[in-house]
Amino acid sequence: MSARRLVLVALAALAALLVCCSTDPGDASISGAPPGFDGATEGDGGSSGDGGSSGDALPPASQPGPEVLFGSAIQRIVVEVDYAPGAAPYTGSAGRLGDVWSIARDNLVAVFDGAKTLDLPSTLAQMEQLDDVTGTEFRVEDIVDIARRHRGQPSSGSVATFYVIFLDGKFVQADGVVSAQTLGVSVANTGIVAMFKPVIAAAIGSRGTTTTTTRFVEQSTLVHELGHAVGLVENGVPATTPHHDATHAAHCTSTTCVMYWANEGASAAADFVRTYVETGDRLLFGPECLADLRAIDARTP
Ligand SMILES: [Zn+2]
Ligand SMILES: [Zn+2]
Repeated sequence: MSARRLVLVALAALAALLVCCSTDPGDASISGAPPGFDGATEGDGGSSGDGGSSGDALPPASQPGPEVLFGSAIQRIVVEVDYAPGAAPYTGSAGRLGDVWSIARDNLVAVFDGAKTLDLPSTLAQMEQLDDVTGTEFRVEDIVDIARRHRGQPSSGSVATFYVIFLDGKFVQADGVVSAQTLGVSVANTGIVAMFKPVIAAAIGSRGTTTTTTRFVEQSTLVHELGHAVGLVENGVPATTPHHDATHAAHCTSTTCVMYWANEGASAAADFVRTYVETGDRLLFGPECLADLRAIDARTP
């Protein structure tokens, strides 16, 4: 594929991605009710691209698609986590939930059915602060550019990597609107995930919030975005039952699944995780999404 073609693909992907992974004007949520749930428009998470309109972003081809990712050729999953000053992820104990990063870990184990070695940090010492990442508003191009400069290990051989950057700012949608509700985005086909710390830290559900809830929201957002990154829903991993939310792109119609579209928005996410905080349950994917993952497992050699 020519460089020019790649850029075009990347641009097309950008458009798709923006919709996919932003949860829209959650302004509605501000007005109360379960409203945080609406807002998002359609979009789809599909397609490719490294996002970089700058073109020279990451080599898109290096990120394995679902057919390869879930196959036996990939034996190790590495999640690299960087953060901007002031946007450090929550770490440590989250009350009876135990180590908060075990939430992402347990769900990633579920994603791959325990079949791959998982390299996921859980302490700040295992993550990197990026002192050159400043600013309070980030477009997809900005996110891809940060990854281009700081991603330590692209996917290669038997290792698939994901790059997560926690930012001290908000997401700028394709239409230029700064989203006050978007907790995170997944840049299609790159393995890049951005987390918007101020939105996460301010996530308040309809019944208020607690520090445990906030920590759980951060983790559930990470799980949601990594879910997109591995191909959910119909984003490379085919839906095996009718649970693909066609209105909201690469999302799940089950309101109790982490891939439900509104769970990418702050207030809905806070409500979503409350049940988990209260029950101690931590498997955030619904049976429909898990069935899709097991089906692609079975399909890939
Ligand atoms: Zn989403
Ligand atoms: Zn689901």
